[in-house]
Amino acid sequence: MEHLLNRFVDLANEMIAEESNHPMASYIPTSELASALDLSLSDKPMDDDAFFSTLRAVILKTPKTSSKAFFNQLFAGRHEKAVIGEFFSALLNNSMYTYKAAGPQIGIEANILSKVRDIIGWDQHSGGTFAPGGSMANFMGMIAARDSINKDIRYSGIDKTYTAYTSEVSHYSIDKNAAFAGIGRDQIRKIKADGFGKIIPCELSAQIQRDIDAGYTPFFVNATAGTTELGAYDDIHALRAICDHYQLWLHVDGAYGAAVMFSKAYKHLISGIETADSFSFNAHKMLRVPLPCSLFMVRDKQCLYDSFSNEADYLYQTGDDEFNPGKISLQCGRRNDALKFWALWKSIGTQGLEHMVDYQFHLADIARNYIRNHPDYTLCSFDDSVSVCFNYKDYSARDICTALYTENKLMVGYGCTDGKEYIRLVTINSQNSEQDLLDFFRTMEAFLAASETENQALELAAAPAF
Ligand SMILES: *Cc1c(COP(=O)(O)O)cnc(C)c1O
Repeated sequence: MEHLLNRFVDLANEMIAEESNHPMASYIPTSELASALDLSLSDKPMDDDAFFSTLRAVILKTPKTSSKAFFNQLFAGRHEKAVIGEFFSALLNNSMYTYKAAGPQIGIEANILSKVRDIIGWDQHSGGTFAPGGSMANFMGMIAARDSINKDIRYSGIDKTYTAYTSEVSHYSIDKNAAFAGIGRDQIRKIKADGFGKIIPCELSAQIQRDIDAGYTPFFVNATAGTTELGAYDDIHALRAICDHYQLWLHVDGAYGAAVMFSKAYKHLISGIETADSFSFNAHKMLRVPLPCSLFMVRDKQCLYDSFSNEADYLYQTGDDEFNPGKISLQCGRRNDALKFWALWKSIGTQGLEHMVDYQFHLADIARNYIRNHPDYTLCSFDDSVSVCFNYKDYSARDICTALYTENKLMVGYGCTDGKEYIRLVTINSQNSEQDLLDFFRTMEAFLAASETENQALELAAAPAF
């Protein structure tokens, strides 16, 4: 192992140097993947040199999500301390279900959860757990809601037609989860969002009333804190009032945007989250923790036991429930997603997390200013979001994104609202400088200018070296 670790460090250093010299991995068409790299598995073993050289080739050809050319998804960049934490999770390889198997790591998880709880302003009755991803955290929210409306469902199954509510621009996990939970995708009511991407509260209450009148049983409302496309924040107070009126569970899907809880300047965006019954939050998005790092929080901790606990004599042999988080989790074996987040938080403090969040909004302001001041651009998104959506000249957003990717210039994706496509630039990588962001625009402009001229190859070479 020691010998291999040295080789690992060498390769990791090479990879990181490569990433800053060449922020884009060269694009491999899927049809050429099998011939470009030796990915096949064979009967025979391989010696270490051959193994490392094969591994090296794959590593260097893999998309570089921490480079300054990656703006494609709702995660990017790496925090070195968080990565160190992740390495040790793999080396230690504890399973986070019992104190016996994970020891102090359980305390690390518990400390994060109670700190988040304090930041939200919740008391001892509240609690939480790490879920295997934000989609699964949302799933836990729906299950907890389902079991709270009728405690028998987990034994006898769904007894009537329950309906759930979410905005038309919310994350697709809500639909999938309805299928998993036995609610059914068809019982998800997609409520209209306004021009800013926020759910329209009176449309919600009208739909709930129509469903009650038609004999359905509403049980769950999902608010989104940071929609996947525009980064919009639903009005949690307004939704809480409706949920109180109809006695419904309010879950906040904060997978993308709930990290604003750490920022004095932006936490107003999730004002009211303390009144939710549950919420989810991904530290692997705005906080640069390696994937996955997802928290599921509930105002009443008991519901975690009601929905997720199962006795198992072969597993729970020592300690009390508080130190055996396997009792409130979706899975049995649990990877340690807490150590990397703790390593980050411990090293930079809550102030460091705040700075990270504020800086992403600052970068987004820089990008929006650039767009507003350049007549070739149209801004399609709004302030107070780290998703900056725009169109350039009359190019198709889809075509630009695809060409930038296949020509090894930039990784950026496109989104769509009301049938209108736009480029979605996400300023979530707080390692980027303002200049890196301006370079994004310059690289794109130069690339498109070059592709407009006949002598393409020549002009491309003159594009700013990213
Ligand atoms: C990313 C995201 C999710 C899903 O989280 P995963 O960790 O990718 O499963 C859910 N909701 C919203 C709003 C998201 O942005």
